[in-house]
Formats: sequence, structure tokens, C-alpha cells
Amino acid sequence: MPEFTLHTEIIELELRHAFTISRGTKKTVKNVVVRLSSGDVTGMGEAAPNRRYNEDADHVISYLETVFPDSSIKADQPEDLFRYFNSSPATPVFSARAAVEMAWWDWLGKSKNQPLWKLWGHENGAGLTTTFTIGIDDKERVLQKVKEAKNAPVLKIKLGSGNDEEMIRAIRSVSDQRLMVDANEGWTTLDEAKDKIRFLADHGVELVEQPMPAGDLSKMIELKKFSPLPLIADESFRGRESLQELSEGFDGINIKLMKIGSMHLARTTIQKARELNLKVMIGCMIESSLAVSAGALVALSADFADLDGNLLISNDPFRGVVTDSEYRLQLPGKPGLGVIKAEN
Ligand code: MG
Repeated sequence: MPEFTLHTEIIELELRHAFTISRGTKKTVKNVVVRLSSGDVTGMGEAAPNRRYNEDADHVISYLETVFPDSSIKADQPEDLFRYFNSSPATPVFSARAAVEMAWWDWLGKSKNQPLWKLWGHENGAGLTTTFTIGIDDKERVLQKVKEAKNAPVLKIKLGSGNDEEMIRAIRSVSDQRLMVDANEGWTTLDEAKDKIRFLADHGVELVEQPMPAGDLSKMIELKKFSPLPLIADESFRGRESLQELSEGFDGINIKLMKIGSMHLARTTIQKARELNLKVMIGCMIESSLAVSAGALVALSADFADLDGNLLISNDPFRGVVTDSEYRLQLPGKPGLGVIKAEN
């Protein structure tokens, strides 16, 4: 069984625009790059910890120090990693788990000299078209961002901070792009959510993500009965909830590697979602091209890709998945995740 040495490094990513959603504003984010070395091959993974889930870069580092106190790991398959995580009493830090498994997969592909998409049984690395996210902002800046994203076929608009109708009217006045909406739990009553969804349907919006706070499935069940638009669970779905239960209140799930903590579990979850007729979106946090490349690999089996985290930053330390001028994702042909250090 291969034995790995674990190494971690904090990276600070700078955002092109300050990024606001219904929970707050960010200008930079701290992520953690994990390297697993065995023999002369090193695999790389990335943790993008999110405060919504009580995780930050320091938690990632301290969690990995607790689970792997001598920085050494023996793993032949993802289940071997699960055993380390599950036998630790430490509170799980799922972005850290995701990073370790990502590095393991990258190592596996590199050690077999094969791109992972090939090892995973895909014919090529041609992926879905990603949505491009427009954060909450004043009207002028929103219009500026929409202008910059004029080649994106699908925009995902962050709502839920009080000026939703104004935002959508402003965007519709300059754009006939396809629109999806993410309320990030921003609508608190059933009436408010119904009013917003009615308005959005009238303005050609195709889908709504996380309209109401996670944890109140009974309201979502009511909302789903009413809603003319498909409803996608993001904050309501971290990765281990019952899909059967969620399917009563939602039409689909947003899987993010940083929430579910495992590329392997993401793959098996997609299969289970299919059996329940749930749509699957693969999303991301603010991430470099390293983690986005892993997301794009998982998204080869999904319905929607919302993988623009790397496009929102100005100092991406890596180069991997390519988002072409029409926002189609193309995975590299290089071994593993196909990610290399960017030349800056
Ligand atoms: Mg979301």
C-alpha cells in the first residue's frame, strides 16, 4: 500500500470584485493546498473552507494535524482515507477531507500516467457549460459585471438582500442571457419566497437555489408544491442528508466537494440522486483552478456545472481546467487532475 507524506500550505486568493452574497462580503479568501507525496510523485488537492460551515484555513491545518499527527498516510483507495477521518474524535472539517482525497486521486492518476477523467471511464475531458455568478452589488456594478460576462450563456444571480426585483429588472434591461438565481437562504417566510419565485418566473429565470433557510424542510415541501421553477438544495444539502427526504422539498441538489468532503462520495451521490430523479448541480466555493478542476471532473456526470470560483480570482496559482470563451469546461489531457503551477 502506498505511503504518503502530507504537506499543507495556505494560499491567499484575491477576488477580482469584492464578492457579496446574502451573508456578507469578501475581498480575499484563504484556502489550503494539500500535497501527498509517495515515491517521486506528488498529488495536489485544495481545501476552500467556508465560514457558513464553521470552517477556515486554520481549522483545516489543525484538523489535518490531529488526524495525521506524523503527516504520514497509507491509502490504496478512498475508503482507507475515510478510516483515518472516521476514527478521529476531531470535529470533521469537510474541506480538509476533500483536499486530502483530491490529492490522493491526483497522485493516482499521475502514478498511472493517465488523466483522471479517463480512469473514471469518460471518453474525453469535454465538460458542461458553467454558469457565471454575479454577486450582490449596487445596480451600476451589477450591470458592469453582466457586461463583463456577456459571453456567458447562463448567469447565476445572487439574491436575498432586499433589492431582488431591482437587480433582476436591471439585468433583464441589458441582457437576454439565461438566468438562474441563488437566494442563499435569504427569503425567510413562505409568502416572501412565493412572491419572489412568481416574479422570477415572470422574468424568465429558470431555476432557484436555496430559497429558504436550511433546516426548515416543511416550508420547502410547501414551496415545492407551489413553485413553477425547479428548486435546488445547496445549504440544505451538505452531503450526508437523506436524499429521499430532500426530494420532497427540492427538485435537485448542489454537490460541492468542500461540503461533502469526498470526490468518491460525490460520484456515488450522483448515482443515488439519479435514482430519485433529482437534478444534480456541481458547485464550488471561491477556489483556484486546482479544486475547480476536481469539481469539473465530478461534473462530467452532472446536469449543471456552477464552477466559476477560479474565474472570480485575479491571482490563480494554478492552471488546470480551461473555461473557453463560451464558458464550456475542458479538462486537461495531462495525468491526474492535469493541474500545474501557473507561471506568474
Ligand atoms: Mg448556493
